[in-house]
Amino acid sequence: MKKPVIDYDLCEGCGTCVELCPDVFGMQGDEKAYVIAEDKCDTCDCDEAANTCPVEAISFEE
Ligand code: SF4
Repeated sequence: MKKPVIDYDLCEGCGTCVELCPDVFGMQGDEKAYVIAEDKCDTCDCDEAANTCPVEAISFEE
């Protein structure tokens, strides 16, 4: 199962991934997104979040 990973050095906290995949990503204050449930990745479209992220901070581990 693929697991989303956020590069916190790149993330600028735009919130797009949280809007697209609220089961998987959450916001840490207004600063950064973080992975709240990596095992939920198969139930929504995290690829869209990864492709939409403006700084390409989202990648996947198998
Ligand atoms: S879409 Fe990218 S930059 Fe925006 S909050 Fe998510 S990981 Fe951070």
